[in-house]
Amino acid sequence: LARSSGKSQLCYHPQMVMDVLRRQHFYNLLRDAMDEKQFYLAYQPIFDINQKLVAAETLLRLNGPNGAISPAEFIPVVERTGMIHDLGEYVLQQAFQDFSSLYRQNLESPLILSINCSVHQLEHPKFYPYLLKLFSQHIIPPSQVKLELTETVMLNSAVHLEMIKKLKDLGVMIAIDDFGTGYASFTYLLDIRPDVIKIDQSFIRKLAQVDKPDRDNERIVASMLTLARQLGISTVAEGVETVPQLQWLQQHGCDYIQGYLLGKPMPFVEFEKVVKYSTSV
Ligand code: C2E
Ligand code: CA
Ligand code: CA
Ligand code: CA
Repeated sequence: LARSSGKSQLCYHPQMVMDVLRRQHFYNLLRDAMDEKQFYLAYQPIFDINQKLVAAETLLRLNGPNGAISPAEFIPVVERTGMIHDLGEYVLQQAFQDFSSLYRQNLESPLILSINCSVHQLEHPKFYPYLLKLFSQHIIPPSQVKLELTETVMLNSAVHLEMIKKLKDLGVMIAIDDFGTGYASFTYLLDIRPDVIKIDQSFIRKLAQVDKPDRDNERIVASMLTLARQLGISTVAEGVETVPQLQWLQQHGCDYIQGYLLGKPMPFVEFEKVVKYSTSV
């Protein structure tokens, strides 16, 4: 290991070595977590604009040796290493299993199951057959399932678009996650023709701030809602934390609400109780 000063040809900065080791360690930790089935799902309720429970989003969870590890941290690694395919199958399978038990108890107003799906998963030849198998094994109809396409790469290859078409033909709903940020742009509305857009929480956070109103941000959100309505696309606001934000969204015609104000992500056993309570009142 050569110092970056001095005459040596090979210059590994100690920091670089540390980064490699840390990454390797993190990778091993995730691999072990997969092998030992330590990942689990949380469910966050989604409400219509009148605060009726209508859906739930599945969110991956992992508790590491030093506390919870955020999916925002491990999903990119899991995607880079190809582990996303196995992990994605776990998410689908667990979500179908959990929701099947709900469906057996509560067939009157079936909830929509909204599952995060990495764009990388769409590229895998086993993805679609696996989904078909799940539908054949469970009582959940495709029309009750929504895939939230989260992306760290551009979603525009023929492979992606073809798979999205197949999913829509099957009757599955397609949502564009984090709409308005990153790659999730207007061209997607034409290429993908999503059923739903989820307006990113960075926009929602700045809505209806009493102390320092951000009018331009509000204009942007209002235009997204109008545009979606004109295209026949439903809208979900994510990260709704305050009553003024909720009221603003109600006044501007947002269709669905998700956020800590109405419900945090929770283990399935907790979510089951929320469902029971909401259907008994
Ligand atoms: P996302 O899909 O945009 O999920 C919403 C994130 O916002 C979640 O973070 C959720 O816990 C958080 N959130 C919900 N309501 C509020 C709120 O009112 N305030 C604030 N501050 N945050 C709120 P989480 O669970 O840490 O997930 C982060 C990201 O990881 C997700 O963002 C998604 O992109 C990815 N992810 C999670 N589970 C999966 C999965 O199963 N598959 C894939 N491919 N990605 C996943
Ligand atoms: Ca999502
Ligand atoms: Ca999102
Ligand atoms: Ca996000």
